[in-house]
Amino acid sequence: MNITEIEILRVGVPFDTGGPRQGMRPGLNASPWLVNESLMVHVRTEDGFDGWGEGFGHFSNPATEAMLKSLIAPWFLGRDTASIAALMGPAHRSFFGFGRQGPCMYALSAIDTALWDLAAKRAGKPLYQFLGGPSGDAQVTRYASLMRYGGDGDAIARNTERAAGLGFPMVKLHEREMPAFMAAREAAPEGVAITLDVNCPWSVEEARQVARDLKAQEKVRGGFLWLEEPVWPPEDFHGLARVRKEGTGISGGENIGSVMEFSHAIDAGAFDVVQPSIAKMGGVSTMKEMFPLVREAGLRLVPHSFYWGPGYVATAHLLAAFAPSEWLETAFIAYEENPHDQIDPFAPVMTLSADRPGLGFAPDPARFERFLISRTLLKA
Ligand SMILES: [Mg+2]
Repeated sequence: MNITEIEILRVGVPFDTGGPRQGMRPGLNASPWLVNESLMVHVRTEDGFDGWGEGFGHFSNPATEAMLKSLIAPWFLGRDTASIAALMGPAHRSFFGFGRQGPCMYALSAIDTALWDLAAKRAGKPLYQFLGGPSGDAQVTRYASLMRYGGDGDAIARNTERAAGLGFPMVKLHEREMPAFMAAREAAPEGVAITLDVNCPWSVEEARQVARDLKAQEKVRGGFLWLEEPVWPPEDFHGLARVRKEGTGISGGENIGSVMEFSHAIDAGAFDVVQPSIAKMGGVSTMKEMFPLVREAGLRLVPHSFYWGPGYVATAHLLAAFAPSEWLETAFIAYEENPHDQIDPFAPVMTLSADRPGLGFAPDPARFERFLISRTLLKA
């Protein structure tokens, strides 16, 4: 059951945001963000099975792709897939010096998820059942994660209203100003949660002030469910714990690379809502360890999955297996064509079929061909 081939694909699908294009990381990308990329691996073994995985992502893809091509994929070629733990353990130990967070971990995450897809296919079960989840089909609830509109109140209100009308239980903004926050809060009925992802801009004191300001809006349709990654740097767990004391829910974790670092964050009291990212922190093997850790701490686990490929689908399977009442982050954007049949950004419920082994990720090759940025095939 040795690995014979690893294919590395970057596929970028043009999309419309439903508003002005302001990018998600101002300063990083001077030009507008026009295609949403997935960096995927497709692993094949000598007994005829295959698995898909995804590594983060977006603007870091050239670096993750280079890690995969030059170091990570060649290490795995020819190795036995019988035990994922026996394979991934030495892999992590071989590469830890290149970063326990960042492109090296993203690349390892991609391979790990592909190995789980492959193992579940070999067992003839969908991944959520292979992990001990329910028999029959499974349903996962999506939440709408809006692009950044640069504070454009009309675009924020229009898209929030649209997502609420479609039946999403929560809308998340990527804005940073109070008028933008209020535009969303006032556009959605009280039963629809509004959350705010600000991507690490503020000092602890600045973030405490924002948390107080948000707390003061509680009477406006229930206010805001959480404030995500308010503090720079993201690993200032004690600082986050101080912000959390202001009474507004604090979430984060997409920039944490390991279960060990998550346990430090939880011990420090950094979060109400923990958001591990499967394509960043080690794939299915490490992501599944997060559920008991977070449950034991009495917190919520609402994963980061602002991507659309196998990592997105794997996140849905993990929720179905371990936290079926939690929500799947889904970018609320209109693709030129949905890249595969398991993603529909405007449908609040995703169904995982009991009849599709593994991830059930079976993209149409012609669709991928059309949107292909690069493809590399490595053979043992
Ligand atoms: Mg985020």
